[in-house]
Amino acid sequence: MADPAECTIKVMCRFRPLNSSEVVRGDRYIPKFQGEEDVIIASKPYMYDKVFQSNTTQEQVYNACAQKIVKDVLEGYNGTIFAYGQTSSGKTHTMEVSYFEIYLDKIRDLLDVSKTNLSVHEDKNRVPYVKGCTERFVCSPDEVMDTIDEGKSNRHVAVTNMNEHSSRSHSIFLINVKQENTQTEHKLSGKLYLVDLAGSEKVSKTGAEGALLDEAKNINKSLSSLGNVISALAEGTAYIPYRDSKMTRILQDSLGGNCRTTIIICCSPSSYNECETKSTLMFGQRAK
Ligand code: ADP
Ligand code: MG
Repeated sequence: MADPAECTIKVMCRFRPLNSSEVVRGDRYIPKFQGEEDVIIASKPYMYDKVFQSNTTQEQVYNACAQKIVKDVLEGYNGTIFAYGQTSSGKTHTMEVSYFEIYLDKIRDLLDVSKTNLSVHEDKNRVPYVKGCTERFVCSPDEVMDTIDEGKSNRHVAVTNMNEHSSRSHSIFLINVKQENTQTEHKLSGKLYLVDLAGSEKVSKTGAEGALLDEAKNINKSLSSLGNVISALAEGTAYIPYRDSKMTRILQDSLGGNCRTTIIICCSPSSYNECETKSTLMFGQRAK
């Protein structure tokens, strides 16, 4: 049984391998690994709960990042797993799931595309939820996967010159687990949020203008509110600024308090992306 008093934010860091265009361009592979908990970029070490080198398998990442949270959710706790990093750093690859999305601070239902601007309400226990969002009753892993595929095909993608189709929205997948012991009538419920964040890259690098620039500013704002909430939780500050963005408001009862949180920092190993990788690594350090 998990310790109820335990509130943990774990930060893991994963490097993907160099991809073929990086190899063709002649990029260098810049991370240096020594232990299992640190990575060195340009002689500076960055420490995490765990660091995954480029050859780590999906199963190894799942076992280290998700297994414990999934088990605690089945025991009635709430949890959130985030993937943070620049476009093409491996966030979606790491989550394997992608529902509803937050795009330009608007919440869109990924299982019913006619619902394009859902609002956040609070229930009688003051727990925030997305009003009117489609809920599916699933009984098997296949049904979960089908739901994920359906949501994925509805995700919002815009074209930037950094990556032909980069995800410019946060996607949030909620698994609500409700269990009841038919003999004792004892009820147990837990929630797990899987959050595939929008790319964290700086605006200048993608050369965004006009609507794309507004979009990029909005992404930067919501990622920085998330960073503020997480570092306030890590520091144990009394006031946590959950209300600064829709995302942190929705996640309020699954972040901090008696919850399990894992942030997976996803990085490109390429010398071309050194600046972005350093800023991604710094985001992860703020949570420690
Ligand atoms: P993001 O969601 O951060 O924009 P993706 O997850 O879509 O990035 O990854 C970009 C590309 O790199 C995809 O083709 C993906 O399959 C590949 N990739 C990402 N991480 C890994 C990894 N650890 N090993 C092998 N390929 C990877
Ligand atoms: Mg993605």
